[in-house]
Amino acid sequence: MRILIISDIHANFVALESVMADAKGKYDAVWCLGDVVGYGPMPNECTQWVDELAEYVVIGNHDWAVLGRPGIDVDDFNPMAREAVLWTRGVLSAANRALLDSFPDVPVQPLEAPDLLLTHASPRQPVWEYVHTPTIALENFAWFDEKICLVGHTHKPAIYRWRLERAWDDTNNGEMSGAATVDHLPMQIGLPIALHVFDEQRLILNPGSVGQPRDNDPRAAYAILDTEQMTWQLFRVAYPIDLTQGQMRAVNLPRRLIDRLNYGW
Ligand code: ZN
Repeated sequence: MRILIISDIHANFVALESVMADAKGKYDAVWCLGDVVGYGPMPNECTQWVDELAEYVVIGNHDWAVLGRPGIDVDDFNPMAREAVLWTRGVLSAANRALLDSFPDVPVQPLEAPDLLLTHASPRQPVWEYVHTPTIALENFAWFDEKICLVGHTHKPAIYRWRLERAWDDTNNGEMSGAATVDHLPMQIGLPIALHVFDEQRLILNPGSVGQPRDNDPRAAYAILDTEQMTWQLFRVAYPIDLTQGQMRAVNLPRRLIDRLNYGW
């Protein structure tokens, strides 16, 4: 099965539509890694779309903040993100709020792919932690048993590879001992990467962000995971950023949130 993996749409419906047009014919199912709303101008459209089209979805920290769940204080957000969260609360319909509230806040293991785990942020802290260094990734590999964990939240595409090197240990009564390492693999846009996973080699994969990329590339990001061929293919698609920016201006979202879309940070 070919799965379209999307994350961090952040109410940017124009970017989402461009991703769907670009991905047409390349996938059989859609999985979404959360942060459907927050920052962007079209939270109702994005929530409805994800509910209708994504087979699996997990909740993100911005979704959670918009819902006002206990344990998340909107004052912990930076002032612009906070303003966008409060604006989103005001415009999200009751029906869409209920949909958002129905998305799971714990990692999801797809029925058809039990060796995969989906979470917004990290396996250790599903809604909050940023997996943005090999050291943090290494710690997180201890928090799941599946071969591959899919994460979003950083808004930067990434592949972390965990490897366990086993060796005879003479100091340990001749028992085998293992040392785990994690490295950050390079990626090329559009080029399928073969996913070699087994007990001693596992992966954390991040498709980047649809609605607010932060890797200095303003194009929307998504990935195709082929669970039969066992490949991961990252794509970027240019979208009419000015349309999203016009929608944001029309509802007075913070200027800096509007400007950052041009730069991809
Ligand atoms: Zn996000």
